[in-house]
Amino acid sequence: PSDRVFNFAAGPATLPEKVIRKAQEELVDYRGSGMSIMEMSHRGKEFDGVIKKAESDLRELLGIPSDYSVLFLQGGATTQFAAIPLNLCSPEDSADFIVTGSWGDKAYKEAQKYCKANLIWSGKPEKYTKIPSFDQIQQTAGARYLHICANETIHGVEFKDYPIPAGAGAGEVLVADMSSNFCSKPVDVSRFGLIYAGAQKNVGPSGVTIVIARSDLLGKAQPITPVMLDLKIHADSASLYNTPPCLAIYVCGLVFEDLLEQGGLKEVEKKNAHKAGILYDAIDGSGGFYVCPVEESVRSLMNVPFTLERSDLEKKFIEEAAKEGMVQLKGHRSVGGVRASIYNAMPLAGVEKLVAFMKDFQARHP
Ligand code: PMP
Repeated sequence: PSDRVFNFAAGPATLPEKVIRKAQEELVDYRGSGMSIMEMSHRGKEFDGVIKKAESDLRELLGIPSDYSVLFLQGGATTQFAAIPLNLCSPEDSADFIVTGSWGDKAYKEAQKYCKANLIWSGKPEKYTKIPSFDQIQQTAGARYLHICANETIHGVEFKDYPIPAGAGAGEVLVADMSSNFCSKPVDVSRFGLIYAGAQKNVGPSGVTIVIARSDLLGKAQPITPVMLDLKIHADSASLYNTPPCLAIYVCGLVFEDLLEQGGLKEVEKKNAHKAGILYDAIDGSGGFYVCPVEESVRSLMNVPFTLERSDLEKKFIEEAAKEGMVQLKGHRSVGGVRASIYNAMPLAGVEKLVAFMKDFQARHP
């Protein structure tokens, strides 16, 4: 028995109860060390074990090839919006951006400060409800990288396949912000030059950002790059150049163990597809009472935004759901409506309860 609610927050978001309890159990005296993870040296043998295990479990989960570095950094995904152009481009180099939502737009705007960032496709005129077909997009010759946001957390738009950078042979690479669908499904890492993700949605608490980068791309940062944003420096010191977010990395490690115990990302994806499926079916089967604006083929398995046909009822919907233990269902302030974030750790029971509530709410508001 637990008093925990079903937390549909977009991030920080729900974590597996099992992981939180394990962290609690080990908190005061970490495995006989006589102190907690929060109190010990990041260069001691206990923490060395924690970060190495977290990395090797993540490598196993995603099948990360050995020529990729895995980094545990600070500053959130937002810091990578600047770090990536600084590391991959000179100020004269160009980089292409496909913008399918607000996060991709932020990445594009930040990159403009450090390179020639080109917006080669934007979903804004269609209110970020689509992913373009890749052959209709004109990429820039000689661009250093092509950036996408693999899952737009606010708009609920997710890439189901990935574009190939036009200059792939000449060293151009695909870069993806996977903050909100990281480890939610298998990914062929070798198709990317660099993947980054804030941990606080699918894999841990806030405070750590994971970067997976093909090693040969590192080491060419612009001279003005702050040392903390130089990915090569972090890679060469195994994420221990300075004090890392030890506790957050430890919790991520517990989540990776849990995902491996579940059978890996193929199994996790099946569960996620099932959860998202019943929620989208409930929306689509409501006869227009609930509406999801996102084009069906690119709907996110992680963030499900919807509106009520009678928008005057949205506030009541969110309040009543909260009273029943389903919280954080309010859509992002920029788009309104309702958003159910159903990351890996959202139990099926939470989605089933939400769907039952949606049907009941509709029946009570004919
Ligand atoms: N990218 C995406 C897709 C996100 O969802 C978020 C956070 N909501 C960010 C970037 C920014 O992440 P952070 O807060 O870790 O900087």
